[in-house]
Amino acid sequence: MGTVYAIANQKGGVGKTTTAVNVAACIAEAGFSTLLIDIDPQANATLGLGIAKDTEPNVYDVLSGRCTLEEALADTAIDNLRVVPAHPDLAAANTELPREPGSETRLREALAGTRGEFDYILLDCPPSLGPLTVNALVAADRVIVPVQTEYFALEGLAGLLDTLALIQRELNPRLTIAGMLLTMHDGRTRLARDVEREVRAHFPALVFDTVIPRNVRVGEAPSYGRPVTHHDPHCVGADAYFEFAKEVVRAGART
Ligand code: ADP
Ligand code: MG
Repeated sequence: MGTVYAIANQKGGVGKTTTAVNVAACIAEAGFSTLLIDIDPQANATLGLGIAKDTEPNVYDVLSGRCTLEEALADTAIDNLRVVPAHPDLAAANTELPREPGSETRLREALAGTRGEFDYILLDCPPSLGPLTVNALVAADRVIVPVQTEYFALEGLAGLLDTLALIQRELNPRLTIAGMLLTMHDGRTRLARDVEREVRAHFPALVFDTVIPRNVRVGEAPSYGRPVTHHDPHCVGADAYFEFAKEVVRAGART
């Protein structure tokens, strides 16, 4: 039965999608059967894997009950990696889901029949704690929280942890925090080094060892519709994501 990881942080632009796409690609490349579900209406993960954002059926159809998750699976150019694409219309789910009692468990129910086919399932969340992210957190076993090493890094993290605790208590007792991942780190700046120190001091034992550096190749890979690990497998960004994927797999095996 596959382990489900939600990649979540209500802040935008912290590296959620980049992490979801690249970790999925690294894990798939290591031979694990991997599924990435894009639940952000911006569909950046979908596009970043070279898939059109008007693909039908997609995750909106799954969450609305128009098709099964199995029917919405799409192949990617990467062996062992399949995706359930997002669609801009998915934004409507933010108003539709709350009108339907019990809709927090839609994704979990949709996954029930498919989990067994995959070793790893990654959920790329939108930048909010709205109904789509709640659906992801209810379906997930573990959460990875990307944190950009910038001045406001700690801002909002306490609120996110409160939300995770609430979901754990009320809706998904299995949920655990895999850890926080420091992203877009510029080791030449004192600010980035200070932020790293501060986040590690604030959340001891909760921050992954691997740090993802700011790297031009990581930023440009999505415009080619591929993960950086395929765009330029030997750049420092790709190296860091390979290291991080290993850390995730190792940590998962321990628990
Ligand atoms: P989120 O999904 O949290 O909104 P993204 O993963 O889309 O964040 O990242 C925001 C922007 O930063 C994107 O343009 C992405 O390509 C870029 N980016 C992410 N990580 C890096 C990195 N390590 N180095 C350079 N650019 C990055
Ligand atoms: Mg994103």
